[in-house]
Amino acid sequence: MNTREMFAKAVDGGYAIPAFNFNNMEQLQAIIKACAETKSPVILQVSSGARKYANQTLLRYMAEGAVAYAKELGWEHPQICLHLDHGDTFELCKSCVDFGFSSVMIDGSSLPYEENIALTKKVVEYAHQFDVTVEAELGVLAGVEDDVVAEESHYTKPEEVIDFATRSGCDSLAISIGTSHGAYKFKPEQCTRDPQTGRLVPPPLAFDVLAEIEKKLPGFPIVLHGSSSVPQEYVDIINANGGNMPDAVGVPEDQLRKAAKSAVCKINIDSDSRLAFTAAVRKVLAEKPGEFDPRKYCGPARDEMVKLYKHKIIEVLGSDGKAE
Ligand SMILES: [Zn+2]
Repeated sequence: MNTREMFAKAVDGGYAIPAFNFNNMEQLQAIIKACAETKSPVILQVSSGARKYANQTLLRYMAEGAVAYAKELGWEHPQICLHLDHGDTFELCKSCVDFGFSSVMIDGSSLPYEENIALTKKVVEYAHQFDVTVEAELGVLAGVEDDVVAEESHYTKPEEVIDFATRSGCDSLAISIGTSHGAYKFKPEQCTRDPQTGRLVPPPLAFDVLAEIEKKLPGFPIVLHGSSSVPQEYVDIINANGGNMPDAVGVPEDQLRKAAKSAVCKINIDSDSRLAFTAAVRKVLAEKPGEFDPRKYCGPARDEMVKLYKHKIIEVLGSDGKAE
């Protein structure tokens, strides 16, 4: 399904739909299992990195298989959207629409304002003929995500959102209010340090900007990218088992919970799943150096991701029970 109905209900209900990236079978199994067990609608995201790693055709059929798998798990009416994450050209978005994706993102945020509108409008006009929904982006997020790299962030300007949404015709809008891509969301100099634990304490999100945007576009679906919280227990397991991730830091979950209750109705989480996977794999391999069967470490990694996704759905996004 596309995102239209999902978002309308989420905005009304004061919760957010999880948007989880997937690149391999274990990740997809974990997402579907967590959503089936909690009856949460879900957006499966395919990034350009995922397309390069796993092949777009394979991922598309995996998503189709995921719907059948969800039903097998006893989820009678699964609500699953297949979404292109960070499409950067009209041609790419068109190819995903033609290929059966139910939603696409066109990220023209690095372009000048008028060019972003024109590109988004072109994608919207094509996608809507096939009832495919379109996410656009206004404002720039910092950080690194696959091929998306930006040195500096620029908050979305609330005074532009009405004009942008109206003229582009987009169905949802990704905004920049201080989240960022990757596992190092804030530089140490942007943070304070907890004197007891020595951990970085990140700066708060710009909720004033979000409130301004909500006031301009009441009820319009808003999207947050780069919203992993970088659980420190995973970072600790990684570092204790041969890893080296000093000062990895994310967006605190209480801030995301607060955002989910507002017009924010899609929250993108990718890095946290990578951390859960890596922590579990490192732990198994450190404890059992003779292990060479990938199922013996990918299996525990999958279990850990199920736990993580369920936690996000129930404790952070509030989307559990919304797709009975
Ligand atoms: Zn993103």
